[in-house]
Amino acid sequence: VTFSMVNLNDVVKSALFMVSAQFENHGVTIETSLDENIPPITADKYKLEQVLLNLLSNAKYAVDEKEKKNEDRTYRKKIKVSTRKDEQNVYLTVWDNGTGIPQKIVEKIFDPFFTTKSEDKGTGLGLSISYGFIKDLLGDIRVVSEPNEFTLFEISIPRE
Ligand code: ADP
Ligand code: MG
Repeated sequence: VTFSMVNLNDVVKSALFMVSAQFENHGVTIETSLDENIPPITADKYKLEQVLLNLLSNAKYAVDEKEKKNEDRTYRKKIKVSTRKDEQNVYLTVWDNGTGIPQKIVEKIFDPFFTTKSEDKGTGLGLSISYGFIKDLLGDIRVVSEPNEFTLFEISIPRE
């Protein structure tokens, strides 16, 4: 494992460089809000990038599913990515206005192999592996969701 000083904004920029063209071709609007003064953390930047790519891919799936339900003709698929800091932590947040997560499954989503997707679309490993990476950095991942409205994943990692 190669730890280095990582700026979360660079992780966001490289992950979005990989997915933004495809997402936008599929009608997803991506908004970013980056704290330009975020302090660097010691971490493996490729692992953080994988964590973010999984959150983005989950968000993309959720907005596509919501669109398929076709309950609201004015619906526009949106994903927002942001970074911020406070005294203790740096934060990386991914928000989407997709399907949301029903209350009865929200406590299972970090379990290995838990998925609501068909076998060819999900393994159920993304969030459990991500949770392990973030715990290794003494951080945390929390989720807030309102079914049919939005889902927010927020990663917090202690500052040096
Ligand atoms: P996978 O994507 O392979 O299913 P994950 O561990 O990444 O595995 O996610 C587990 C489950 O959590 C998903 O199958 C889905 O039910 C739920 N989930 C994760 N992110 C979102 C999201 N942004 N919106 C709605 N549901 C989500
Ligand atoms: Mg996933």
